[in-house]
Amino acid sequence: MSILCYHSVASGWDDPVSVEPADFERQCAVIRRRGGTVPLSSVVDRLAARGATPRGSTVLTFDDGFADYAEHAVPIMERHGLTATMYIVAGSVTGSGVSVDWITGLDPADAPPLLTPEQIRDLHARGWDIGSHSMAHRDLPTLSEAECLADLRDSRDLLSDLLGAAVSTLAYPFGHHAPHVRRAAERAGYTVALALPDGPEEAGAFAVPRIGVYRGNPEWKFRVKTSEWYLRTRTSATYGRLRSKRRQ
Ligand SMILES: [Zn+2]
Repeated sequence: MSILCYHSVASGWDDPVSVEPADFERQCAVIRRRGGTVPLSSVVDRLAARGATPRGSTVLTFDDGFADYAEHAVPIMERHGLTATMYIVAGSVTGSGVSVDWITGLDPADAPPLLTPEQIRDLHARGWDIGSHSMAHRDLPTLSEAECLADLRDSRDLLSDLLGAAVSTLAYPFGHHAPHVRRAAERAGYTVALALPDGPEEAGAFAVPRIGVYRGNPEWKFRVKTSEWYLRTRTSATYGRLRSKRRQ
């Protein structure tokens, strides 16, 4: 199984994190032909037990909570009978909000809007799963364990209160984690936490690997990224050796 990580689906936002709606539509068709998606909640138990993803289907996740999710991604997924989990930066649902200062090369003043609390509640009521992406998208490994614990607890409480339902999954900002971050995530009450490895790393319930899908990935690359062997190869030691060889 592949757990894919998207950020934005929008027209004309020329940034690696944003996929054009027409490309996303084609990718959803590929996913549907391959057996569709399963909700993250249906595989959480197996992920928590082994940190490994069951074979077969696809889980879709979105990070950061951009408002284009409701405008573009959700209607396209609905047309294809797919489902997804959206990871919200919980500070965005407070009165003070958050500054979108985590996208490389993007002035926060130019950042596209985030989902409003009302939109998040509405999506959840319509069956779209919601998870935590921390309070303010800070790079958690740079914080102490106590700071991580406070951040991850606060964001979980805030979102659970907003939805009137317990939020139990976490996606690390930037996909970054470390032993003290994983401990804090577990202590904060999450059942699993999702990473975004760009090299080999050991999988576990608090380091569940995902595959990032980015702007302009051609269809062949998307098919490779969503194939059964891709993640296994990428998270293996061999892949690390191959990559470091290629870099030399
Ligand atoms: Zn993020």
